[in-house]
Amino acid sequence: MSRKTLIVANWKMHLNVHEASLLVHRLSERIKVHRSIEIVLAPSMLSLQPLSQEIDRRKFRLSAQDAYFQDEGPYTGEVSFTMLRDLVHYSIIGHSARRVYFNESLELIRDKVQAAVRNGIVPILCVGETKEERLAGETKQIIHDQVTTALSNLTAEDIEQVVIAYEPIWAISTFEGEVAKPDDMKKAMKYIRFQIAELYGQHVADKVRLLYGGSVNEHDARAYLEIEGCDGVLVGAASLNYHQFSAIVASAERMNSERRNPSRND
Ligand code: PEP
Repeated sequence: MSRKTLIVANWKMHLNVHEASLLVHRLSERIKVHRSIEIVLAPSMLSLQPLSQEIDRRKFRLSAQDAYFQDEGPYTGEVSFTMLRDLVHYSIIGHSARRVYFNESLELIRDKVQAAVRNGIVPILCVGETKEERLAGETKQIIHDQVTTALSNLTAEDIEQVVIAYEPIWAISTFEGEVAKPDDMKKAMKYIRFQIAELYGQHVADKVRLLYGGSVNEHDARAYLEIEGCDGVLVGAASLNYHQFSAIVASAERMNSERRNPSRND
């Protein structure tokens, strides 16, 4: 089952419009058009409109970092998926920053996933356990609850399009500290695909793209990408540096090209 490699840059609450535009320019100089890789940039809400006019669409797609589930109404301060529908291809939903700092519940995230799909935007659903949950042996239960609730209002056909990023919270932005071991990650990803297969069938599970996120950098990206069942990476801090991010893309491209032409590497 071949699924296109996906590399997502989450710029979080960094970079003003000018800085975001400069970063896109620098990335564009370094990144070629890759048929086997999809590169998605998630700048702040403010930069989406100007970047949508600047990006080379053969190289990049845009993602929101979040949006509100109602299509319109008296929700001061919010932006809806309906407003974003012509600007972005994807939206990150349920990022741990939203769950932790903004107390987003499983049900709110479910409603956001449904609203994104209703508006033709592909959700990049983030799931993952805290350190305490991990130590208490609750990882599977947490992932189960996050995945099944978030997808519960979608049809099997909708779910085929969804991207799920496994991002253990204890491994996010901890470059000097703990990072997920490939084995932990493999188990968690296998479990996510198993859950989807149980609920919606193997055919659907085989189509869903699974990403890993958590302090990925240019040195270890390939080790994560090589893990069975991993279709890409969601990159935070390292995506703000054009040398590092373009090196991550280059290592994914090298890996894909070696897979396409194994004999050349003998
Ligand atoms: C993220 O923002 O989802 C993330 C994984 O960040 P970092 O790469 O900095 O850990």
